[in-house]
Amino acid sequence: MTPEQLIALDQQYVWHPYASMDNPPPAYPVIGAQGVRLTLADGQELIDGMASWWCAVHGYNHPYLNQAMKLQIDDMSHVMFGGITHQPAVSLAKRLVDLTPPGLDKVFFADSGSVAVEVAIKMALQYWHSKAQANKNRMLTIRNGYHGDTFGAMAVCDPINGMHSLFASVLPQHYFVNAPPMGFDRALQDGDLTELEDKMRDHQNEIAALILEPIVQGAGGMRFYSPQWLKGAADLCKQYNILLIADEIATGFGRSGALFACDHAQVQPDIMCLGKAITGGTMSFAATLTTEEIATSISRGEASCFMHGPTFMANPLACAVANASLDLLEHSDWKGQVRGLNEGLNRLLQPAKLLVYVEDVRVLGAIGVIQVTQAVDLGIIQKMFVAEGIWVRPFGKLVYVMPPYVMSPEDLTLLCNGMLRVLARYFGEAHGQDCATE
Ligand SMILES: *Cc1c(COP(=O)(O)O)cnc(C)c1O
Repeated sequence: MTPEQLIALDQQYVWHPYASMDNPPPAYPVIGAQGVRLTLADGQELIDGMASWWCAVHGYNHPYLNQAMKLQIDDMSHVMFGGITHQPAVSLAKRLVDLTPPGLDKVFFADSGSVAVEVAIKMALQYWHSKAQANKNRMLTIRNGYHGDTFGAMAVCDPINGMHSLFASVLPQHYFVNAPPMGFDRALQDGDLTELEDKMRDHQNEIAALILEPIVQGAGGMRFYSPQWLKGAADLCKQYNILLIADEIATGFGRSGALFACDHAQVQPDIMCLGKAITGGTMSFAATLTTEEIATSISRGEASCFMHGPTFMANPLACAVANASLDLLEHSDWKGQVRGLNEGLNRLLQPAKLLVYVEDVRVLGAIGVIQVTQAVDLGIIQKMFVAEGIWVRPFGKLVYVMPPYVMSPEDLTLLCNGMLRVLARYFGEAHGQDCATE
């Protein structure tokens, strides 16, 4: 197939994420990926700023991850997990328990982040059911959240971004409060937690759990908030007898500068969801961890078991490569790499704050966000990024990068300068002026 044929057949037959099939936008055929670069079918190389949506933290085509998968394939790619166990799953569970905050001692493996969130919500509901408080069956969450695309997860996504109105008649109705005030370094002020506490006080008999993305709200707005707020929210959960579900699917494994975002606040959630970077960006996989108390209570409840069991649960290939990814993290200076990216992103992107078409620039860990004044036209700007030799995929007003941890300072400079050049041209043309500064 020529690249042109591939693109045409793709447009004819294949649905892409959040894409229209009525006049679908052309997708770029990729034929390989190595380190921090994607290779397009025409031979062009792009520096990847997205790490394939937070996942490819070690870069692409990593020989150690490849080797782990090849070895595992020769033993078995998959076996069912009902009544069967295997070394890759058991080792991985033990390691996740050791790495995550204290108290998270039981591991449920799932096949994607959304499913890990479904599992977390179900655990919370089954827990209260087993405690004879089945009326505690609503979630509490913060606006601007993103927890996945399945129905349970969608019901706790931001009601506006998540298009709740479309699905209003089928989504469970949960409680929402405003997102925490922005700023990782913001000192907690009087009133910051008032709305949350009011909601908890008024509805503690109905609320099973508070679910949130700790510190970094990802796809629902790329917002960062403070460890003090997170700690305050966690304390309120205890006070009002509400479980805390930390969705670390985007933040887990170092992205925010701590191994888990909860670690910034020394918060110990009752349930934690992991996904995305868990396999170093190689395979779809996720896990939901919980406490001994929740696991035991569920198991002593009416059902005598947890009512969930995906077909591909604990897929050995995914577990093996997840173990290998943990090896790489343990033997690398990921903290130093993330700190280096953080310094680079700050130095290269913060000056854009002065541009008239930029509303805000935010950097945390290895995440850099430029919020522009108006939503960008993806069809136009995507081509401009590719022409610049970089892969950046904005949504709405958010033009952001979360590079693989292994990106060199030189490539980071190319990536960030490319982003700024594209924005200058895009907004320069839109405003009929070039590169306007205040
Ligand atoms: C991506 C994401 C999910 C959903 O994960 P999928 O693997 O896409 O189902 C859930 N929560 C957060 C915070 C995410 O970033």
